Amino acid sequence: MSITLHNISKSFEHVNVLENINFSIKQGELVALLGPSGCGKTTLLRIIAGLETASSGQIYFADREVTKLSAKQREIGFVFQNYALFRHMNVAENVAFGLKMKPRSVRLNKTAIDERVNQLLELVQLDHFAKRYPDQLSGGQRQRVALARALASKPNVLLLDEPFSALDAKVRKDLRRWLRDFHHELNVTSIFVTHDQEEALEVADRIILMNQGHIEQIGTPAEVYKQPKTAFVAHFLGDVNLLYGYIENNTLIIGDFHKDMREQGTWPDQSTIAYVRPHEISIAKIARKNDIQGEVVRIHTAGPTVFLEIAVAGQPKHIDVSISYRQYEQQQVEIGDTVYWQPALVNIFMQDELLEFMI
Ligand code: ADP
Ligand code: MG
Repeated sequence: MSITLHNISKSFEHVNVLENINFSIKQGELVALLGPSGCGKTTLLRIIAGLETASSGQIYFADREVTKLSAKQREIGFVFQNYALFRHMNVAENVAFGLKMKPRSVRLNKTAIDERVNQLLELVQLDHFAKRYPDQLSGGQRQRVALARALASKPNVLLLDEPFSALDAKVRKDLRRWLRDFHHELNVTSIFVTHDQEEALEVADRIILMNQGHIEQIGTPAEVYKQPKTAFVAHFLGDVNLLYGYIENNTLIIGDFHKDMREQGTWPDQSTIAYVRPHEISIAKIARKNDIQGEVVRIHTAGPTVFLEIAVAGQPKHIDVSISYRQYEQQQVEIGDTVYWQPALVNIFMQDELLEFMI
């Protein structure tokens, strides 16, 4: 079922926490609501679920307005951060709970409930754990039970609020992949809240990036990562170098580096800051056209990626560069070497957006 939000705003005691949120999610999409802690993700998810009311605006599930409907009437599946399973019920009973609680007129009979529970446990790969109690499961297994339970009554929409954030890094990574595969099999429209950009980039079909109660950008992971619309997005989605330069005739100039920026807009002549990710920088020992000169001041060679720091005249901070170990071996760079480098991908933003990061 598709979901549309139209001008959703919310204030708690006259403080605006959400301002004019608009977006549409297609049937079957897996969308991440991403943003720093406190930006309004949970509030927005609860409004979509019907657990919280918006101060203004409308919500539609397909063509039907659900703004005034209760959570129950909206037929939502909800999974929270801390696996809220019933401790005195085993896995199968936990999953069956919602189905057994339905009014008699719409309740499945016992055989049908058992069958549905088995199906769901197979789906989340816990069919061998049906008789276990929550205490006897790992955190990751418990979250999969919570997911099976949320799906038991075939919800229109699945909402997940930081479902993996209480788990340790390795399990979280496994579950991400699992959720992605699982979601494609299931095809239920899902919204997934996270403050972890890596998680959103890896799992989501599209990302809605929020900041202080508003949307900064909506796009596929590749779009928001490679074409951030704001300085905030560029910062939030991963490590980035800030290079000081200027614009003349729509050309970005950083030392000997020149790049026509008309693809990203029309720019007044002004000084600017260019945003470049460490892995979008290519280095060489012999100067190529458009290269900037620098000196290698630090090399960190743990793991498959090598991190270099390069001191550059006119730049207040060292430039971080990441290259593969193989490339590092081929280049044979050492501390103190002069190197030549240039960004392969660079973004600039209008001056007024930069100010808040420069303070
Ligand atoms: P997130 O999930 O992105 O961390 P929340 O939606 O939980 O953010 O919170 C957004 C803002 O709304 C925060 O400033 C939070 O303090 C505030 N807030 C959330 N719930 C309430 C509430 N019930 N009463 C007052 N303020 C709230
Ligand atoms: Mg939250």
